[in-house]
Amino acid sequence: MVYTQDELQRLDGTCLDCGAEVTFITPDEYYMVHDSLWLSANPDDDGKLCVACLENRIGRKLNPNDFIDAPINRRFAAMSERLKSRIVGDCR
Ligand SMILES: [Zn+2]
Repeated sequence: MVYTQDELQRLDGTCLDCGAEVTFITPDEYYMVHDSLWLSANPDDDGKLCVACLENRIGRKLNPNDFIDAPINRRFAAMSERLKSRIVGDCR
């Protein structure tokens, strides 16, 4: 099997805190937030965090303003309900 560049990056996709696979599963929690927010939660920059663990680190829920305007944040069919609810702002 030949992977695209995007898929290769996703192969290293376990959450730093809980160890859950976050990017190479379906539905996934593969997303991008603003650098300032990400670095405040994860100063090392490397690695990935699932939605719950990122929210744990920043001490609040994510909201639509936290996500950058990028195609990766608009793959609604592939992402988890939890992630989708943060991106579209439906925080029920
Ligand atoms: Zn996690």
